[in-house]
Amino acid sequence: MIVDKLGRRFKNLRVSLTAACNYACTYCVPNGKRLLKAENELSADALLKLTQLIQSAAGIEQLRITGGDPLVTPKFDEFLLGVAALPLKDFSLTTNGQLLLNKAEVIKASGIQRMNISLDTLNPLRFKQIARGGDLETVLQGMERMQSFGIKLKVNMVPMRSSNQEDILPLLDYCLDRGIELRYIELMRMGHLTQGNAYQTDFLSMQHLLDEIGRQYRFERTDAPFDSTAVRFHIPGRGYFGIIANESEPFCTACTRLRLSSDGYLYGCLSNSARTYIGDLVSLPGHIALPKLQKILLSALGHKRLAFQGETTVMKFIGG
Ligand code: SAM
Repeated sequence: MIVDKLGRRFKNLRVSLTAACNYACTYCVPNGKRLLKAENELSADALLKLTQLIQSAAGIEQLRITGGDPLVTPKFDEFLLGVAALPLKDFSLTTNGQLLLNKAEVIKASGIQRMNISLDTLNPLRFKQIARGGDLETVLQGMERMQSFGIKLKVNMVPMRSSNQEDILPLLDYCLDRGIELRYIELMRMGHLTQGNAYQTDFLSMQHLLDEIGRQYRFERTDAPFDSTAVRFHIPGRGYFGIIANESEPFCTACTRLRLSSDGYLYGCLSNSARTYIGDLVSLPGHIALPKLQKILLSALGHKRLAFQGETTVMKFIGG
């Protein structure tokens, strides 16, 4: 088992299936361009083989499929069904939800139990301004369809001072009414947000969010799993919400995440652009590939930070 001095090990793998996305969210993509794959993206089969190899080398228990947006690539069906057949404790998906209706059948067939939908507003105009693509109503219908399959949903919202501050409470109400857990994600200093002052202007802290929510609800902090990225709260009689408080309460010292990009790089930390190419391991026999990967995992674990400090890496390449 590969473990660091803080007891951190990789248990949770996030695979970015493609860097392409049908949105160009203002906080993720600087210039509004979208649908760009990374150069040399790996096939579904190669990503599955790497996933299995990583699983054997690191003892991965949970896997999340992400992107870009994982639903935009033709690789999605093969990869999802392939992952569903792996001996994992749990697998899940993060998507902007725009293509859920198109992919409903394969999603149902995979037996997936939970899913995170990124949704920053319930206002159609603000939706267009932030996502710079897509259609709000289609996402909401897709979410309903997923719930009709019994899939447990979480919604991820990135609250920002200049664009969707007004949505903090309406989105919470919407989620509570439907048994969905809302996760507010504190804006991360990633990609283009490491430059200029957009980050400072737009950042809303956990305390700010709690003050806002406290105007309407009484809530209490509640337990979250040891390696959870979110601080979790309970609103008696209504449900739960969480805050991924990268800045206010970093979760780095308990982080168990490892990331594989669509072009075959392993990242040990979201806040560190250090990465190692492992795409070439696919063609090697297992007894040669495995020890090589173990060495790479050891150095990837060494890349984990003690606090989130942002990074120039663009989220859409490593999937958040
Ligand atoms: N396209 C998929 C989606 O929308 O969920 C998966 C990829 S997206 C990069 C994953 C998550 O990262 C989304 O919830 C998105 O809101 C979040 N994200 C991207 N850039 C961010 C930033 N600078 N700060 C906080 N969250 C960010």
